[in-house]
Amino acid sequence: MLNNQGRPTGVDNVTSSSAVNGAALLPSEPLIFEIGTKEKSGVDLPALDQNVGSKLGKFARKSDIDLPALTEPQAMRHYVRISRLNYSIDAGFYPLGSCTMKHNPRLNEKMARLPGIADIHPLQPQSTVQGAIELMEELAHWLMELTGTKAVSMTPKAGAHGEMCGMMAIKAAHEANGQSHRNIVLVPESAHGTNPATAAFLGYKVKPIKAREDGTVDVQAVKDALDENVAGIMLTNPNTCGLFEPDVIEIADAVHEAGAYFYCDGANFNAIMGVIRPGDLGIDAMHINLHKTFSTPHGGGGPGAGPVVLSDALAPFAPLPYAKRDGDKLTLVENKGEGSDHLGRLSAFHGQMGMYVRALTYMLSHGVDGLGRAARDAVLNANYLKAKLSDLYNAPYGDQPCMHEVLFDDSTLKGTGVSTLDLAKAMIDEGYHPMTMYFPLVVHGAMLIEPTESESLHTLDQFIGTMRELMEDAKAGNVERFTNAPMKAPMRRLDETRAARSPILKWEAPTQQKAAE
Ligand SMILES: *Cc1c(COP(=O)(O)O)cnc(C)c1O
Repeated sequence: MLNNQGRPTGVDNVTSSSAVNGAALLPSEPLIFEIGTKEKSGVDLPALDQNVGSKLGKFARKSDIDLPALTEPQAMRHYVRISRLNYSIDAGFYPLGSCTMKHNPRLNEKMARLPGIADIHPLQPQSTVQGAIELMEELAHWLMELTGTKAVSMTPKAGAHGEMCGMMAIKAAHEANGQSHRNIVLVPESAHGTNPATAAFLGYKVKPIKAREDGTVDVQAVKDALDENVAGIMLTNPNTCGLFEPDVIEIADAVHEAGAYFYCDGANFNAIMGVIRPGDLGIDAMHINLHKTFSTPHGGGGPGAGPVVLSDALAPFAPLPYAKRDGDKLTLVENKGEGSDHLGRLSAFHGQMGMYVRALTYMLSHGVDGLGRAARDAVLNANYLKAKLSDLYNAPYGDQPCMHEVLFDDSTLKGTGVSTLDLAKAMIDEGYHPMTMYFPLVVHGAMLIEPTESESLHTLDQFIGTMRELMEDAKAGNVERFTNAPMKAPMRRLDETRAARSPILKWEAPTQQKAAE
């Protein structure tokens, strides 16, 4: 079956090239532009009175708006059909390592939808949104309390954005101290890709630091790399091998002694919240992914929040706006004062209110003891998977307990003809979202599994059963089950490299001739 762009629309005959060409992301569901028509409208509106005239003047539209018209049920069904092709944390287990795909409690959603919160506007006079600013302040307070720090910038929109914020503050601090020649940032090899990208984006040279045999950062290698040109280190703790960095205090001391700053990638805070405070370990800046640790939705590129906590040394360089309390009144300071070192704005308005509400709800409904319990359960669940799978999957740093995620390599797949990618695709046919693959890069064919604390023992046991059965089947030589997978997903294998390298992001209306082909 072909749709009007000459693309196959059935699931069975999708090829990888059709998947990346022509944006056929969902081959069984045409685009809304292909269903809708322009000739008629989905709603009945009275004809426009031509005598009224337009107040828009030169801004009035000169051409047709070119939107497809559909009836309400047509539009509804289109989007519901698309939503049913999605895999989500609400549909099933999602063990994507480093991403902390945990359940978003419905209470968070209920709070975020309260009209007094959902219906306010960032341009409202501050006197009318005192409660909202108070809520942001309360969240900021608990973020500082949980991390043992004295300042926090709420505005960054994601983890990577928070990294940029923290590194900009570090850069500004060096500049203010006459240290602007410092042009090197140390980044351990196991770092998330966003770390070297952030450093490079801000004009720094990235110097990689080797990992030790046990997967943790080599303190001596850090000390050897430190000199008067190093601006800072970006270190993830717990690291991306799922291990706690045992020498983090010694590293922080050495970094400070060399006049540099310690940026901690705190995306994995889920494993330690309520148990230890990164501020006590000597960090200068750390982003917190509210969408990971504090269970706000990851949002498919939608609104996110990655607040950054800052040490005393960096606090004067935090971006605008920030809240100031004057008696009972809260003010958002939106302009730099005379002689202020604050960075300007990093984003429009004040951050993502809906995410703040959800994160604060999560915190208050857990309490500090509950947050610590959640972190401990996340670690327990990962170690349970490790214990139940290590005879079939090789855990390269397996002689120590892991934190919230367990890392396996592909050594036990050797000789089977099945790769990490094939195994991941076969998991889709079993109803699971695959784990994180080929990351961190320090391990061959890496499989990084993060169960999170929100899964039940029953779910974990089911998953263990599936993973064991898959490895046994791979070893038994049933290669095609893997290399042909996924068979049951809406899409078969895609040319993912091509999709990433040459994405087609804009739909073009088919020309008459092409449509006829
Ligand atoms: C998720 C993650 C990031 C980036 O966070 P985003 O919100 O996706 O930008 C950075 N570092 C680590 C270790 C992460 O897991």
